[in-house]
Amino acid sequence: MRDLRISVTDRCNLRCPYCMPREVFGEGFRFLAREELLSFEEITRVVEAMAGHGVAKVRLTGGEPLLRRDIERLVEMLAGVTGISDIALTTNGLLLARSAQRLRDAGLNRVTVSLDALDPAALRSMSDAAVSPERILEGIHAASDAGLTPVKVNMVVRRGQNDHCVIGMAEHFRHRPEILRFIEYMDVGSTNGWRAEEVVPAGEILAAIEARWPLEPMPPVREGEVATRYRYRDGGGEIGMIHSVTDPFCGSCTRARLSADGQLFTCLFAHAGHDLRAVLRSAGGAEKLERRLLEIWAGRSDRYSAERAGRAAAQPGEPKIEMSYIGG
Ligand code: SAM
Ligand code: SF4
Repeated sequence: MRDLRISVTDRCNLRCPYCMPREVFGEGFRFLAREELLSFEEITRVVEAMAGHGVAKVRLTGGEPLLRRDIERLVEMLAGVTGISDIALTTNGLLLARSAQRLRDAGLNRVTVSLDALDPAALRSMSDAAVSPERILEGIHAASDAGLTPVKVNMVVRRGQNDHCVIGMAEHFRHRPEILRFIEYMDVGSTNGWRAEEVVPAGEILAAIEARWPLEPMPPVREGEVATRYRYRDGGGEIGMIHSVTDPFCGSCTRARLSADGQLFTCLFAHAGHDLRAVLRSAGGAEKLERRLLEIWAGRSDRYSAERAGRAAAQPGEPKIEMSYIGG
C-alpha cells in the first residue's frame, strides 16, 4: 500500500453522464449527510495509520473536492503527517482559479484537472452542463502559477462524443508545462450505461497523435504508475495514456481508496468496502485502526480489470460502486 485516494465529498457541481448521470443524481438523489462524512480529524487519523505502513502519497478527490468547505485545512493537517511526502488533488477545475494559491500555501503539491474537450459543444455533452472551457483553463493556469506542478490534465475519451477533440487537445497542450493524459472510458459504477463500443482504445488515440507528431516512449517515474508516458520527438512535451480497459495494471496496483463516509476500498471496481468509520468512532484508538488496516490489505485479492475480459462487464444484481462516491 503506497497510495491512498480520499473522497472528501460525494457531491459535484457537474453531471458528467459517464460518472454522475443526471437521471440518477438528480433532485431526488440522497447524498451523504454531514454527520455521515468523515471529519478532517478522522481522515487524518486514517492517513497517520497508513503512513506507518508505506503510504506516502495521498490524493483528495470526490465528487468535486473543492466543494468541501475549508478543504485547505485538511491539506494542512495531512501535510503535517510524518511520512506523507506528496499531496495531490483531482478537480474539475471550476473552482480552482480562486483556491489554487491557498491550496499551495496549505501544503498541496500537485493538481490534476479534468478537461474532456476545448470545443464548447463537446465539453457540454461530456459534462452535461454549460461549462466554459476558458473557465477550466483559467483554473489550470492558476494552478501552474501557484506552483502546483506539474499540472496534469485528464481527458476521458468517449467514442462519438469527444474523440474528434483528441488532436485539438494535444495541440493545445503541446509546448506547455501541463501534461495531458488520455483516459479510456471505464465501466465503473452501474449507472452510466457503459458500452464497450464507446471505449476508444489508448492504442488508437496514440496512433492518431503519432501520425501528426511522432512520439517516443518514456520510462515510468515510479513503480505502480498508471499512465504510460510518451514524449513528442520534436520537444513538444509529454503525454500519458491510462489504459485500464485495454491493458489492465492490477498486478502492480498499490492503491487504496477511502470513501467520504469512511469505507475503505482496495479496488475501484469493488462491490463493497471495509467500514473504517465504525472503527474510528469506536473505542480502541490507533492500534485497533492499524490492526484493521493490515487485515484488510493482507486479505486483498481484487483484480477486476485483469478479469474483465473473461466476464460480462456489468453483472446484474452485483452493483458496482459509483466513482463519485468511491473517489476517482
Ligand atoms: N470531480 C473531480 C474531477 O472530475 O476531476 C474529481 C473526481 S472524478 C470522479 C475523477 C476522474 O475520474 C476524472 O478525471 C473523471 O474524468 C474520471 N472518470 C469518472 N468517470 C469515469 C469513467 N467512467 N471512465 C473513466 N474515467 C472516469
Ligand atoms: Fe463530477 Fe468529476 Fe464525476 Fe464529472 S467526473 S461528474 S466533475 S465527479
